[in-house]
Amino acid sequence: MKIKSIESFVLSDKLENTFHFSQWEYSERRICIVKITSDTGHMGWGEGYGPADVIKAGIDHLSSFVIGQNPIETETIWSILYRRSLDYARRGVLVASISAIDVALWDLKGKILDLPVYQLLGGKKRDSIIPYATGLYFTKSKSLTQDLAIEAQRYCDLGFKAMKMKVGIGIKEDIKNVKAIREAIGPDVQLMVDANHAYSLREAILLSKAIEQYDISWFEEPISPEYYEQYAELRTRTTIPIAGGECEYLRFGFQTILKNNSVDILQPDICAAGGLTEVKRIGTLASTYGIEVVPHTWGTGIALAAASHYIFNLDILPGRLNAPSAFIEYDRTENALRDELTYSNLTFAEGAFTISDAPGLGFEFNEDALRKYAVCHQPVELSEVQS
Ligand SMILES: [Mg+2]
Repeated sequence: MKIKSIESFVLSDKLENTFHFSQWEYSERRICIVKITSDTGHMGWGEGYGPADVIKAGIDHLSSFVIGQNPIETETIWSILYRRSLDYARRGVLVASISAIDVALWDLKGKILDLPVYQLLGGKKRDSIIPYATGLYFTKSKSLTQDLAIEAQRYCDLGFKAMKMKVGIGIKEDIKNVKAIREAIGPDVQLMVDANHAYSLREAILLSKAIEQYDISWFEEPISPEYYEQYAELRTRTTIPIAGGECEYLRFGFQTILKNNSVDILQPDICAAGGLTEVKRIGTLASTYGIEVVPHTWGTGIALAAASHYIFNLDILPGRLNAPSAFIEYDRTENALRDELTYSNLTFAEGAFTISDAPGLGFEFNEDALRKYAVCHQPVELSEVQS
């Protein structure tokens, strides 16, 4: 059995309504996905998180090391790609290219073996997972605080038990927005805040002290991901749990976070940090430190599916009769690529996702949406590599 072809695609969709977070504005959704086909006729889909065109270039560069390999041997292929990238890119976007290929290979392996990825990872350890709505971004609206409260209320009406809002626009405005959203959703819905590393340690301490009263489940990326020790210091200065890791890569990077006691909640992105193969290892590493893992998840239904299989398999820590809930990030901002590219096998009811036993990552792929949104496409075939 051999991998016959790799096709990388960049998809793009211009947003109807722009929105921004603490770093920059979104006016477009642009994503790189990859399709890997075996000589058995099965196909798997993967996705990279980060700048789509650069990830695509990375996938195209790595393709020749993947073509002709046995698609069942996901870990062997990962090792080849890692060794091929190590000398130039120990961190960063080439790891996202490896991640996209790895996710596609797990999907492909599941399709070939007719098993869902969560079984290939070792089994389903929980019956349901809790999606938290990611939204509540900034806009140029003059009534932003009021708009955010209305949006938050809408997530409650849809049945969400948790949601995450953006902070990082300025401490006074942040406090006003957090207060308005907590008042809108009441005391029973969990609320997280995410600064996308907008603040200094001093500012992060100020903000966290001011919003502790609003029962915040975690404060995500308060400060730059480079300042591991400042994260640890912040943890000692607030009762709000500190989260981070979406800008980190490979088990080696996550070991640095863990060794520095930087976070309460570790957030590797499966489509950037090394794929399912590596993030499974990162989860095991986190368990040796007693640190919770809630993957960062952005992009299309491919990324959502990869995260869901991972989380259904994730160890329940700490173990107890009434098991703690496992969260999955569920982006609710405008994204036609996410909404149209896949038909999910996740079912949302009573604030939780359950998952079917469909093989691979479980979704059905919509080729019409691919044709509609693809702006750049590159196939590499087995015969091209061998000749
Ligand atoms: Mg974040």
